Amino acid sequence: MSELSARAGDTAVVAEAPEGGAGSPVLELDGVTRLFPGGTSPVVALGGVSFTVNRGELVAIVGPSGSGKSTLLNVMGTLDRPTAGVMRIAGTDVAQMSDRQLAAVRATEIGFVFQQFFLADHTSSLENVADGLLYAGVGRAARRRAAAEALDRVGLSNRAEFRPSKLSGGERQRVAIARALVGSPAIVLADEPTGNLDSVNGSAILSLLTELNQQGATIVVITHDREMAAQLPRRIEMLDGRVVADNAPRKGAWSQ
Ligand code: ADP
Repeated sequence: MSELSARAGDTAVVAEAPEGGAGSPVLELDGVTRLFPGGTSPVVALGGVSFTVNRGELVAIVGPSGSGKSTLLNVMGTLDRPTAGVMRIAGTDVAQMSDRQLAAVRATEIGFVFQQFFLADHTSSLENVADGLLYAGVGRAARRRAAAEALDRVGLSNRAEFRPSKLSGGERQRVAIARALVGSPAIVLADEPTGNLDSVNGSAILSLLTELNQQGATIVVITHDREMAAQLPRRIEMLDGRVVADNAPRKGAWSQ
């Protein structure tokens, strides 16, 4: 936990590679199973999923509807616990953590980006981004400074005082990405990040994620869109709750 709690107090520097070198594991899943109660037998939403995401990677998790992507997102995001199997974030087994510790991990180690943006419209884009640090033990002035930096990173400095409803869809998703990155999380989980955007804005968001990855952010994109997934360097393909393909670089060969 020392690494986790040390990071909780960090003043944020956007997209700076967190502790640990490129290539060290950020997210490790080993035989992760998630069952839900069903009629006669349980529904196997995840049937023994194993993969590792290393620091500095940009990964697509791709699969058709019903393949287990949302369930996997919830487990990876520590919003749900596996029925069986092991999941480690930055080396710590989440099964050993209390709900409180998990909430701290979510606040400091994971940045979320959603299809629906989930921005608050009663306040400015800057405050929305600054809210990404609300639970990270950072004071208000430092939060606003870091938020301004994060907005600059996504090319929206000139929209800092705009409310989200005054922005285009693509700009809203940029604000949401800035909010996800503002605390320099170990990993960003993006759930269908282009799902609400037209193709031009969708491509721009994909380029931004690629650029942020090249600057050091570790990013996992969950999508049903095979065309989009094809543009990312690594693809983990899901079907019926299992990984059916993964073009991970072979062990030891990963470099960034
Ligand atoms: P995807 O996000 O790829 O569409 P999901 O993770 O939502 O897939 O679902 C995977 C499987 O698990 C599906 O068969 C779905 O019906 C089932 N499932 C998901 N959540 C629940 C739940 N809360 N209760 C029962 N079955 C569920």
